Amino acid sequence: MKKDLYKVLGVSRSAGKREIQRAYMKLARCHHPDVNPGDPRAAARFRDIQEAHRVLSHPKYRALYDRKGEIAGEDQGEGRGAEKQSRSSDSRGWENIVRDIFHGDAGGEAETGSSRGEDIHQVLEITFEESFRDCRKEAFYQRESSCKMCRGRRFAAGSEVRPCPGCSGSGLVQVQRGPYTVKKICHHCAGSGEAGSRPCPGCAGKGSLLVTERKTLRIPAGSDSGTRVVVSGAGQPGKRGGRRGDLVVTLRVQPHPYLERRGYNLYGSVVVAVAEAALGATVPVPALEKKVSLRMPAGTQGGQEFRLPGKGVPQPGGAKRGDLYVTIKVLIPEARDPKARSLFRELEKLFPENPRIRT
Ligand SMILES: [Zn+2]
Ligand SMILES: [Zn+2]
Repeated sequence: MKKDLYKVLGVSRSAGKREIQRAYMKLARCHHPDVNPGDPRAAARFRDIQEAHRVLSHPKYRALYDRKGEIAGEDQGEGRGAEKQSRSSDSRGWENIVRDIFHGDAGGEAETGSSRGEDIHQVLEITFEESFRDCRKEAFYQRESSCKMCRGRRFAAGSEVRPCPGCSGSGLVQVQRGPYTVKKICHHCAGSGEAGSRPCPGCAGKGSLLVTERKTLRIPAGSDSGTRVVVSGAGQPGKRGGRRGDLVVTLRVQPHPYLERRGYNLYGSVVVAVAEAALGATVPVPALEKKVSLRMPAGTQGGQEFRLPGKGVPQPGGAKRGDLYVTIKVLIPEARDPKARSLFRELEKLFPENPRIRT
């Protein structure tokens, strides 16, 4: 029976990269052979965990596995006979894994080195009309910024500088992670190893401040709800020289009162009178432009759909546009007064055929 890599990690098939990473780190910590010496089942389970992680954290391998159930990657093609060989390469791999898990290279949570700043996520509403043309929108958000007064050092100018009491001046502290002792950046001094006698008055000793940023976003024509606009380097600052994160803005397009969008096509309806449908007429229809009209032929039926080519949503680049589909709704008058009733009777005589046997 084929093993389910998602089950191995205990995640759902829709799990994101982070969730997979987290599940892997957690499992790898308890099933690591060094934590369970002499337990062959733990070793086997650890190999499964590694394999599941290797495949599912690689977009190409994951897609292949989702589609065909194929397990691609390093060990591919060696078949069952590869067991021994992969075991020896695993033991080398284990060292790397230990380094990854406990020193954070794999988790993106580098504990002693530099790390990239976090992304800032925002949702921005735009109107239906704005989504069809190139437009500019302002995004306001808050991010951390190094305190200018102390330049991130946390203490006031002229204060007496001494080694940080949290880390004895090394900038690093040791923490216990299961059976391992790992080094982490000291949070008292942010790794500088220094402490001052008086905290910086500008940031109350935090080293950073929240600042409000304003960024002008370029929203491309044809954007839809869920479209993401990324301003790279506009996110949180990185740690210890790491680069800044990004600002990731997810667009939400407000609904239109009369039109619905599907892909690059628009769908709407128009109400017409019985006489207009029967005799044919030119009627204005809801569209992106103010004046779009539809020429209905005589004998147009209720529910009939007309296509107006090129009246839909502009496609990126602006050269092509989708189509507008208009469904006809015929308004039937109530015909309460005697004159109207007799006229409908007349019509009935003129068109005696049974509408239900019409082809
Ligand atoms: Zn400061
Ligand atoms: Zn310290």
